[in-house]
Amino acid sequence: MARITKLDDIVSLCKRRGFIFQSSEIYGGLGSCYDYGPLGVELKNNVKKAWWKSVVQMRDDVVGLDCSILMHPLVWKASGHADKFADLIAECKKCNTRTRVDHLTDHIEEHTEHISIDAVLAKAHDLSNKVCPNCGAVGQFTEPMPFKLMFETQMGANVDDSMTLQLRPETAQGIFVNFRNVLDTTRVKIPFGIAQIGKSFRNEVTTKAFIFRTREFEQAELEFFCEPGTDEKWYEHWKEARFNWYINLGLKKENLRFREHDANELAHYAKACVDIEYKFPFGSGDWQELEGVANRTDYDLRQHQRGMRTLNKWFENNRDLTNIELADEAEDYQCGPLSYFDDEKKRRYIPYVIEPSAGIDRSALAFLVDAYDEEEVRGERRNLLRFHPALAPVKAAIFPLVKRDGMPEIACNVHNELKKYFNCFYDEKGAIGRRYRRQDEAGTPFCVTIDGQTTEDNTVTVRERDSMEQVRVSTGQLLNHLREKLEA
Ligand code: ATP
Repeated sequence: MARITKLDDIVSLCKRRGFIFQSSEIYGGLGSCYDYGPLGVELKNNVKKAWWKSVVQMRDDVVGLDCSILMHPLVWKASGHADKFADLIAECKKCNTRTRVDHLTDHIEEHTEHISIDAVLAKAHDLSNKVCPNCGAVGQFTEPMPFKLMFETQMGANVDDSMTLQLRPETAQGIFVNFRNVLDTTRVKIPFGIAQIGKSFRNEVTTKAFIFRTREFEQAELEFFCEPGTDEKWYEHWKEARFNWYINLGLKKENLRFREHDANELAHYAKACVDIEYKFPFGSGDWQELEGVANRTDYDLRQHQRGMRTLNKWFENNRDLTNIELADEAEDYQCGPLSYFDDEKKRRYIPYVIEPSAGIDRSALAFLVDAYDEEEVRGERRNLLRFHPALAPVKAAIFPLVKRDGMPEIACNVHNELKKYFNCFYDEKGAIGRRYRRQDEAGTPFCVTIDGQTTEDNTVTVRERDSMEQVRVSTGQLLNHLREKLEA
């Protein structure tokens, strides 16, 4: 088994094979933004499909949602992001580069989301012997300061009705604010979940980590609503389900682990939180978060009930949030507009929430890095991506052995038939060995070759990527043969 060990090698592999390009590259690129090329977009779509299938389609207790990116400013006031979603940073006095303090110290996260910035600042941060990752200067950092992570934009054409909005930094809040809508329009009953995949935006301080940390990225989040008291059981359930999802899609077990957050790392509202970490072969410490699973208690729904009570104040303040405090919680908040009535127990309460929150880009990167392999075959080096069939960008490549004797015509017919069912690729150029190698490098699980024998007995060769074994299959059986293997 060969592993890529440098981030630069991953970046060049992704570019060379058309997986990922720097955004706006012809203009010199845009920092920490990336574009997915022809193979990359297929891989990323497959990661999303696999997540949706496992979290929504295969379950009877989860429904889907797709919310807008722009949301009412009070959403972020209520969630805590407007005031508190920041990183603690320090600036190098030598080169003026800003670095996240938690990246200079231990592996402890200090996104100050939902934590008072003052409380985080009050903690002692000894940076006197810390090295600037940009220029190498030692102990030259300023005092830590908060840096807000939400992007702002302007909505509305007229001066008097335009307002400043934020691009969402997570998809979760769109789910909380639709909790009532989903309850009122579907037959869901607690316990149930609402799932969403979509873009999120954060003006990240630490970049240069390729698609591991970008300023525009995709999240796949589930908010699973349950009765208080059953939350610990559901937390364990989702921890295990999400961990197994990565393993079932081919990530090697030795490269995956849980990291349970210590009490001092938890946001004050969270009862428990665990990171599913992957051993990325780059960066400091290797082990990095792929996904977080958190027990968010009833915090978010309660906060949005407070947000709803703040609406009048916001109108009175000319639709401006400046200097507005969130309204107090109602005394009977358990019966508020975002409460749930349990028909059987005749009891009303605010549900607890278990949240598995995954990054699609980070998962795609982990799947790619984990699938990479090199081996020697008959004295020649073979590079390949051993993708799980569900994730492989191209499922089957179809080749005529040579460009004559009716082989291209048969191959085109085979291609036209197979592409109705899955993503295929037709190639008739170059030596057959070279064509196989190109598909190995793209991670294509099967190559189908039409040769002289096909014209005689209607069979084709199916070559399997990992073992390179070849079997003959009749054209009539080909679709079933491939589907069985792809769906196994
Ligand atoms: P980190 O500490 O690495 O910045 P986080 O703890 O802030 O991450 P969450 O807010 O828990 O991340 O987001 C859930 C998931 O979304 C993460 O596990 C990750 O997969 C993904 N994610 C978060 N920020 C980014 C980013 N800037 N680029 C790509 N993916 C991200």
